[in-house]
Amino acid sequence: MLFRQLFEPQSSTYTYLIGCERTREAALIDPVVETIERDLAELDALGLSIRFTIETHIHADHVTGASALRERTGCRCAVPEKSGAAHADVAVREGEAIRVGELELQPLYTPGHTDDHHSYFLHHSGQARVFTGDALLIDGCGRTDFQNGDSATLYRSVHEKLFSLPEETLVYPGHDYQQRRVSSIGQERDRNPRLGGAKSVNEFIEVMAALNLPRPKKMDVAVPANRLLGQRH
Ligand code: FE
Repeated sequence: MLFRQLFEPQSSTYTYLIGCERTREAALIDPVVETIERDLAELDALGLSIRFTIETHIHADHVTGASALRERTGCRCAVPEKSGAAHADVAVREGEAIRVGELELQPLYTPGHTDDHHSYFLHHSGQARVFTGDALLIDGCGRTDFQNGDSATLYRSVHEKLFSLPEETLVYPGHDYQQRRVSSIGQERDRNPRLGGAKSVNEFIEVMAALNLPRPKKMDVAVPANRLLGQRH
């Protein structure tokens, strides 16, 4: 398996490139429109051709590169069915794997940050990875105060769908604001300050209610654009 973790600094977003060494097919999870040239150069350097873009959810803080990549390469855009996004080629649902050559991404429905949010589990060559989007961040989690977010729902998603994975599973988040790159399920389950250890659902709801975060600057542009996979019209 070929793998790259790519970073977009304006929104501190991670884009993940996964590629099958045998078939040379690849996918990009959560590409950002500003960085598609870099992503295409990475694919080229690795000798891969992109089959899919894959979204974890409809983002509020950046515009997806999905439709721009589709225009350039003819790849297919996979988006959670529950997002209601227009022009998707693949409706993502838990239980229906996305195959990229010999790699099999398993969508896990993990609502709470948004109501369409999916994480993706990938077990290949003895290594388990989970791409957690904004459901579970390193020592944190995505906010729950818009896009039908709900703290109790996020707590349940993380505990039931993510913390139940093997503890050595590597956790690759959708963002990090402090240059951290990777964690593990065991580490987050034990010591995530919001969700791990013995934190109860009520403690989590209180912490999230007290955050008082500003609205994302790009939200009014990003959400409608992302419902069209990044097209601005
Ligand atoms: Fe998000």
